[in-house]
Amino acid sequence: MNKMESMEKYYQRDLVLGVYSPGSVLAEFILRLKNVPGAIASVSKILSDLNLNILSGHHFAGPREDEGLWIFFVDLTGKETNLEMVASHLKESEVVLDVKFSREQVEGIILDKFLFPLIVLDERSVIFRVETFANMFKRLYKAFGSGAPVLLYEMGLSAGINKIENIEKKYGLSGLTALKIALAERIPKGWGIPRIEEYNEEDLQATITVEELFECLPFKKTEKNATSHFFRGYLVGLFTKAFNKQFQAREVECISKGDTHCRFIIKPI
Ligand SMILES: [Zn+2]
Repeated sequence: MNKMESMEKYYQRDLVLGVYSPGSVLAEFILRLKNVPGAIASVSKILSDLNLNILSGHHFAGPREDEGLWIFFVDLTGKETNLEMVASHLKESEVVLDVKFSREQVEGIILDKFLFPLIVLDERSVIFRVETFANMFKRLYKAFGSGAPVLLYEMGLSAGINKIENIEKKYGLSGLTALKIALAERIPKGWGIPRIEEYNEEDLQATITVEELFECLPFKKTEKNATSHFFRGYLVGLFTKAFNKQFQAREVECISKGDTHCRFIIKPI
């Protein structure tokens, strides 16, 4: 399968933590809604009657919860809309339990101010940009030279071990199944798109490719050698914990040196 074919399946995930639109007048609404069919339709109808266009947002509604949340941004450019008036109209709906809104911090810039902490798959999380990681990695190389890959590998190794422990505890899964879940989670978490290309259950040797691996992405086509040390360590951590054996991993292809994806060969020591 070539890269284009597999990437075509994906839509970009934007967490919409804010909106930047120079020259626009923006606002953010957060609504606490009854978790019932038609709740979103009812709110949409009110906003549509007020001729307000809903921009990006998120809604949250757990399967067994009575209430849900809907947070969204609106564009008020060129409108005489009064936000208090919009809020009072929304409160008239019987599905709406509460309404709050905020205005832009600076003209054309609005950042969410209602949602904290950030939860990803039930776990408290933080976001770092790929560029932040790239700068951290570059700084490590500057400060520690050939020691930097070792540090990154060790960080990845402990993260991988911890991930399998976490999956064992959370889902009660182990071995190859736990490993597959850990790899599948890399996609929505934005690390890259891993794929188990080969797996031999007798000698436990595996080949894993990763498209768009965040660790190598900033070095795309600029290096002579493969550049993944954190994720290479992470894979070793996953395998080591999942199979209760010592493993090693080698990155034999890498986007940093012009390959179409990063490819790792993992085997027991
Ligand atoms: Zn790579």
